[in-house]
Amino acid sequence: MKQNLQHVQAMIDQYGHGNVTLVAVTKYQTLEAMNQMIALGIADVGESRVQDLLLKLPEISPERRIHFIGHLQRNKVKDIIEVVHLIHSVDSLRLAKEINRQAKRVGRVIDILIQVNIAKEEAKYGFEEEDLESVLSQVAQMENLRVQGLMMMAPLFDDPEDARCYFRKMKELFDYYANLNYNNVYMKYLSMGMTNDYKIALEEGSNMIRIGTALFR
Ligand SMILES: *Cc1c(COP(=O)(O)O)cnc(C)c1O
Repeated sequence: MKQNLQHVQAMIDQYGHGNVTLVAVTKYQTLEAMNQMIALGIADVGESRVQDLLLKLPEISPERRIHFIGHLQRNKVKDIIEVVHLIHSVDSLRLAKEINRQAKRVGRVIDILIQVNIAKEEAKYGFEEEDLESVLSQVAQMENLRVQGLMMMAPLFDDPEDARCYFRKMKELFDYYANLNYNNVYMKYLSMGMTNDYKIALEEGSNMIRIGTALFR
C-alpha cells in the first residue's frame, strides 16, 4: 500500500500542476485498509454508498475527511450531513435543496461540487454543461451550501488518451465559472481522474483525483 501511494504521489509530481488533493477511494476496502491508508498520511477518503460509509463510520480513524463521491439519494442526505467533508456528486437541484435543508437543520455549511455529465452519456449522472449557468445561479441562493468546484467521470475508454478532450473541456468550464464570481460559488476544486485516466486528467488541470484501484491493488 505504501509503495502504491508513493507511486501515485510521484505521478502527481510528474503530471500535476501545483497543489493536487489525492482522495483515496475506499468504497471496496475494509475498515482496516482504510485506516492503514489514513495512517500513511492520506486523510481524504472517498465513499460512494451511504450504507457502507455508515457501517465503517464509528471506527474510522478520526483524522479523516470524508468525501462522498457516488450518486446520493435525497432520503439519505440526513444520514451523512454531520460527517461529510465534501460532496462531489451533486447532480440535481432537488438534491442540492435537500442538502441545503439538512445543513440548515444541523447548523452546517456544506461544501459541494457540481457533477457534470460532460460526455452526455445516457447512463451517467450529472448536469449538462448547458445547464450549469442556471444551476450555479440557483445554488448560489442556498445559504447553507458552498460550491467549491466541479466533478466529472470520464467515459471508459480502452485508451485513456481518448478522454483527454473531456478533461480539457471541464477545465475550460472551471476557468469560465471561476471568473463569474457568483455568491457562494468558489471554483477551488476540479475533481477528475481515476485509476485509468488520472495522469491525463492531471495534465489537463485536475487538482483533485479520486483513486481506488491504484492505491489498494
Ligand atoms: C470507484 C470510483 C473511483 C475510483 O475508481 P478507481 O478506478 O478504482 O480508481 C473514483 N470516482 C468515483 C465516482 C468512483 O465511484
